[in-house]
Amino acid sequence: MFFISAIHALKKFRTGEIVEHQCFQISINLLFSPVIPTFAFTMKRQERFARTIAWFQENMPVAETELHYQSPYQLLVAVILSAQCTDKRVNMITPPFFELYPSEKELAEATPEQVFELIRSCTYPNNKSKHLVGMARMLVDEFDGVVPDDVNTLQKLPGVGRKTANVIASVVYQKPALAVDTHVFRVAARIGLTVGAKTPLETEKQLVKYLPGDLLAIAHHWLILHGRYICLARRPKCEECGLRMWCKYYLKNSAAKEEDGKSG
Ligand code: SF4
Repeated sequence: MFFISAIHALKKFRTGEIVEHQCFQISINLLFSPVIPTFAFTMKRQERFARTIAWFQENMPVAETELHYQSPYQLLVAVILSAQCTDKRVNMITPPFFELYPSEKELAEATPEQVFELIRSCTYPNNKSKHLVGMARMLVDEFDGVVPDDVNTLQKLPGVGRKTANVIASVVYQKPALAVDTHVFRVAARIGLTVGAKTPLETEKQLVKYLPGDLLAIAHHWLILHGRYICLARRPKCEECGLRMWCKYYLKNSAAKEEDGKSG
């Protein structure tokens, strides 16, 4: 429908029936019209990925972590703190934390009780303070103070699960790893990049299968940032979203609304 109408407008432009800005306006109106092109319903997954990648490359060419850090150790601390907590809160906690514990050496000397006092405004401060001290001690004792670059080795550190390990591997060491947090899980499923994934690991496997290796690192940030600012958990801002023409969630909801309209 969209293409037929757009081609029609283009023909009129060529024959001189309309001028350039009118043609452009018609195309824009069509693009933002509630009419959903039929191709969107039958699109193959590769195509959905291709369109999504192209959109992000154009609209979010730079996408990075919003956590503040100056070394692999500091990013590790920040990511451990960020579990179930906002990056904004973590960025408020880490400056005084890094003043006292700028590297794993200082943190390894601390007690969980001392660390607790600095991170008490974070979620799960009890567990996180124990994990942070345990992580620093293991870094010093077993890894000569060097944060490992391997996802499996990273997961030996206290407080480091697969998601955190993937963040470190991809952000610090530019490895082809993709961390799945709640935003990545939700946004990928809504768009239709993943199908029936029930766990973060299933989501990770499906995304890794379809995304080019050199885009895994940035794709993680694309989906996180999109989930944080547009595709919100409770009320996604679909009308502002550039992905809606092929987003399964949007297509399904629009079709349901259309049905309701007809029956009402
Ligand atoms: S159209 Fe809506 S549900 Fe789909 S990605 Fe955009 S905001 Fe999320």
